[in-house]
Amino acid sequence: MAEWGTRGDALYDGGFLPMFVGGRWIPALSGAVIEARNPANGRLLATVPRADGADIDQAVAAARRAFEGPWSRWTPFERQALLLRIAERFEAEWESLCLSDTLDMGMPITRTLANSRRVLGMLRFYAGQAVALHGATIPNSFPGEILSQTVKEPIGVVGAIIPWNAPIAGSVWKIAPALATGCTVVLKPSEEASLTVLMIARLMAEAGLPDGVLNIVTGTGAEAGAALAAHPGVDKIVFTGSTATGQAIARAATGNLKHVSLELGGKSPVIVCRDADLDKAVPVAAMSVFANSGQICIAGSRLFVAREIHDEFLTRLAAFAGALKIGDGVLPETELGPIISNRQAERVEHFLGVGRDEGARLVTGGARLQGEGYHGGNFIAPTVFGDVTDDMTIARQEIFGPVISALPFDDLEEVVRRANDTPYGLAAGIFTNHLGTAHKLARRIKAGTVWVNMYHAIDPAVPFGGVRMSGYGREGGIEHMQEYLDTKAIWINT
Ligand code: NAD
Repeated sequence: MAEWGTRGDALYDGGFLPMFVGGRWIPALSGAVIEARNPANGRLLATVPRADGADIDQAVAAARRAFEGPWSRWTPFERQALLLRIAERFEAEWESLCLSDTLDMGMPITRTLANSRRVLGMLRFYAGQAVALHGATIPNSFPGEILSQTVKEPIGVVGAIIPWNAPIAGSVWKIAPALATGCTVVLKPSEEASLTVLMIARLMAEAGLPDGVLNIVTGTGAEAGAALAAHPGVDKIVFTGSTATGQAIARAATGNLKHVSLELGGKSPVIVCRDADLDKAVPVAAMSVFANSGQICIAGSRLFVAREIHDEFLTRLAAFAGALKIGDGVLPETELGPIISNRQAERVEHFLGVGRDEGARLVTGGARLQGEGYHGGNFIAPTVFGDVTDDMTIARQEIFGPVISALPFDDLEEVVRRANDTPYGLAAGIFTNHLGTAHKLARRIKAGTVWVNMYHAIDPAVPFGGVRMSGYGREGGIEHMQEYLDTKAIWINT
């Protein structure tokens, strides 16, 4: 702690940090600011601009100038080289990025430090994609020497809006494909976690990013976010956040019919069959929710356990939860950090009360942590509720906190039906040693991603995204590039 804590105090001293527009570091036109506080202790880290529609106009204009200007003449190989240089800058500054994230949004530093493979992998994966994009020559039905071909063109100015729970990976997964395809970006981070995203912009600028290609506009969702989603100069919105905000963004985007990709919330099922290896299943099922203190979109928060093993599973789960170390994320031993804000912690506490009131059995946790080590912070004990029924609020609504709702089941047909009884469809986990069961369940669960005997794996090369109310569009994989491209058909009478 001493070391990371002291370095953290030096990194952010409570002063003003400007935002990044058109290659310049500037305040909001109105001069308004937002405070950034450490969720582990309430300390003021910095203030950042509170942008509104006028600032968004300025950023979109800068992104448009860059898109039409020299950036449009960069070859794919030059864009690839830029992405590789950015990866090198990130690698050199990885510890500072992680420390910034821990201070700003609470994620334990040991967790972010371990995440470098994924984030650096993203930059290098999209660098590879930059030079692999191509159209096709297509046979046609016209007589004579008429050539028809397709070319892939960048969609234009991309507006990106992200939540606070994973600022590094969340922003890079929006920016890297844009740079690979030749788009330009106006990115609005969450008002709860802007600092690391500003650091990312600085590192990218240092790596040689041309002015205006990436613009970071800090501000609230109601002001800057809504203005970006509705802006007629934006060609595409890529959004990660809650389902309700995703719906508002999709509505706002209709004005100029801009393209929209939505990575939204979930209430993902984890199914533990009676033949599962419990030594593996218990820690993975627990961390499918408790990682990042439950502030993960893919949280496997509906835990279906075969009735025969249900009681033993919950006993082991409670022991695992009780042993987790909760505290300030700068402490190397911390496994779970704070909840992002007091408001969000109160929201989680509300669900804890509703769970009890509706008759769920509290197996472990269930309260806010107070006292030594928790002063000024927003810490919630990892919580398991048993005897949950499908209709209870804690089994239906996304809590976005460290809360597992355990539900017993009797047979596979039943669990498929119950697991799919949700408007969401982001992810699912299955634990079984029977190959046939694994295949059957994986195909029948409605979700964008299904993990078998594991959870959490996300990779730049593998598509990720939701179905139903968890959104549409994919990040990762080759198809991610298409989200940032238009296909133009060219006919030539030779
Ligand atoms: P949120 O929807 O409240 O906010 C997300 C972003 O949208 C923020 O930057 C916010 O300022 C902005 N915003 C809010 N209102 C807006 C509006 N009207 N117009 C435009 N922008 C607006 O979500 P949150 O509380 O920051 O994050 C938690 C949610 O994000 C959870 O539902 C979680 O499941 C989801 N999430 C999804 C994924 C995924 O990949 N599917 C990943 C992480 C988080």
